[in-house]
Amino acid sequence: MQESNNTSILIIYTGGTIGMIRDRETGTLAPFNFDNVYEQMPMLKQFHYRLDFNCFEPLMDSSNMNPEAWQTMATIIRQNYEDFDGFVILHGSDTMAYSASALSFMLENLNKPVIFTGSQLPLGELRTDGRENFITAIEIAAAKDDETPLVPEVCIYFENQLFRGNRSVKYNAENFNAFKSGNYPLLAEVGVYIKYNRRYILKPNFKKLKVHTKLSAEVGVLKLFPGITKPFVEGVLKTKGLKGLVLETFGSGNTTTEQWFLDALSEAITNGLVIVNVSQCLSGMVEQGKYETSTGLKKIGVISGSDITTEAALTKMMVLFGRGFDVQTVSAWMRRSWRGELTPQNRPAGSND
Ligand code: ASP
Repeated sequence: MQESNNTSILIIYTGGTIGMIRDRETGTLAPFNFDNVYEQMPMLKQFHYRLDFNCFEPLMDSSNMNPEAWQTMATIIRQNYEDFDGFVILHGSDTMAYSASALSFMLENLNKPVIFTGSQLPLGELRTDGRENFITAIEIAAAKDDETPLVPEVCIYFENQLFRGNRSVKYNAENFNAFKSGNYPLLAEVGVYIKYNRRYILKPNFKKLKVHTKLSAEVGVLKLFPGITKPFVEGVLKTKGLKGLVLETFGSGNTTTEQWFLDALSEAITNGLVIVNVSQCLSGMVEQGKYETSTGLKKIGVISGSDITTEAALTKMMVLFGRGFDVQTVSAWMRRSWRGELTPQNRPAGSND
């Protein structure tokens, strides 16, 4: 593994806790000016490579995240792709898993690292987790083997763990260890050394980057709960223009077997809605037909999302419909792994897809 003096990393600061410092006079948290980043983090000077910064204007709390901001991130990466070896995106943790998933589908033929990171405590706090997250994310974005980036994919780095972006979810609102990847192994573990789990990392294809910036807003999520009513389900299914729906089901993809429910879904599918079955569980996969409570879904044409996350299923459909694909094409793509976001059925989770 090597790092050369010519290495250059572009840091895209979108907002979030990591970029905050406490105003000494008022005590409130405010974003710090990245023009003064070396004052805030003098240790950055120890890197041998060139670090450039691109800051969102205005900065965003990630709870305000939206497809326009993903377009901006993807466009910045496209415009700077040839000039930098890797990219670090500083981002609020709340919707980081959505953004990392979206970018993974928007950046086709990505052969360089795009590492999202953030923090639970602002950089300006004494006990901040942001400093370590930031520095290690830069190191990972710069890591190469024989001039080839070690991690040429969209990832999240948080608290000593590197996750595939489209496999991760935020599961803890206050621990430093805020993310989990319930169905895919860590891409790297960080202690004294950074140990890359190379067999689980996507391989570069050396093709030219293609960026898909058009996203469809005509998608949504329906989370099932015991006692869900017909008007509620029908209200969602009859949303004007809806093209794709993530159905968050129980356990291995189970739902109520009430006839009104299956009839409502069946009618929506006949009218062209793509419905993808994703489990509410953090780990394990949807297996339609395992129980009677999912056999009906399979019969009416609900697509099994295997072990995909809601974040990945939703953003994948945004990108596919945004590209103008028809229902059959989107359905076919939703069944298969495109950027390592799901384990094809009948293969053990964690097998290299
Ligand atoms: N609300 C913040 C955000 O997501 C929390 C964080 O930065 O982690 O932007």
